[in-house]
Amino acid sequence: MKKVIIVGAGPAGISAALYLQRSGRFETTVIHSGASALEKAEKIENYYGFAEPITGKQLCENGIAGAERLGVSFIREEVVSLEYDMEMRPVVHTDKGSYGADAVILATGSARRSIPLPSVHEFEGKGVSYCAVCDAFFYRGRDVCVIGSGEYALHEARTLAAVAKSVTILTNGKEMSAAVPEGIAVDTRRLAGITGNDTVSGVDFAEGGSLSVSGVFMAVGVAGSAELARKVGAETENGKIKVNDKMQTTLPGLYAAGDCTGGVLQIYKAVYEGASAAMSLIKDSESLKNL
Ligand SMILES: Cc1cc2nc3c(=O)[nH]c(=O)nc-3n(C[C@H](O)[C@H](O)[C@H](O)COP(=O)(O)OP(=O)(O)OC[C@H]3O[C@@H](n4cnc5c(N)ncnc54)[C@H](O)[C@@H]3O)c2cc1C
Repeated sequence: MKKVIIVGAGPAGISAALYLQRSGRFETTVIHSGASALEKAEKIENYYGFAEPITGKQLCENGIAGAERLGVSFIREEVVSLEYDMEMRPVVHTDKGSYGADAVILATGSARRSIPLPSVHEFEGKGVSYCAVCDAFFYRGRDVCVIGSGEYALHEARTLAAVAKSVTILTNGKEMSAAVPEGIAVDTRRLAGITGNDTVSGVDFAEGGSLSVSGVFMAVGVAGSAELARKVGAETENGKIKVNDKMQTTLPGLYAAGDCTGGVLQIYKAVYEGASAAMSLIKDSESLKNL
């Protein structure tokens, strides 16, 4: 049986899982790190089928329970990267392991990273990057930093450590929530801004002092869909994944659904896109070589 991994257990991911699992043609696994945007919604009363308002948390739990009842597998891990293997099959890397699949659906919701630091946007593409595997090469033998404090920041730092002269994780006042290996420095001071002329030359700290770096890699929170898509070379636009009307990204075997594709950020749209991605995948599995 073909294997499909869905990243995200919100309305989009669960909706895709239901259609795939009920087709009887796929082994469906949902990998998720816990929080869906929906869990923050106190009261939902604009979604079909509820006589009384339901909390977002309850709606999420109902969705997961329904998918579990049908036999969908769930893995509670944080996805930090995505790549293709030699046979062009997608591989999902988490903070705990790696999982190969025949296809992947990204449904990780809307991006919510990037701390409001002066000059971040000014230096995007001029030293500020959102993807270590894409841009590490440009920083061979140079000093770089990663802004973040979790598994995702650590993953980006490890990728950079293979080529950069030095890598410092800047936590911006937070404690590091992942164990940092030797060779990667950590600085917990609060940040004030990014400095440079045409390109990045350093980072200033709020309490004074600075760190000289040529590259600043943003890795706040967990990797969002756009970051994961970019790592494998799928096109994104304004932080959202580019998809066609079949929810296919620009790469084979990679689909996206829900808030991560932009547009109306509502449950009905996430559910519709999750179902559409699943139905495209079912159809593609008959024609595409690597599905
Ligand atoms: C406060 C609030 C109130 C809202 N009220 C309403 C409302 O009344 N009606 C309505 O229709 N919509 C409402 N929304 C919007 C609605 O919640 C979203 O449109 C919907 O949840 C999007 O679904 P999704 O599946 O695309 O993403 P999400 O529900 O955000 O799910 C994302 C999933 O991806 C997982 N994930 C993310 N990154 C990773 C990673 N790196 N590794 C592993 N897993 C990851 C998360 O754990 C989660 O399971 C509200 C949103 C908020 C924040």
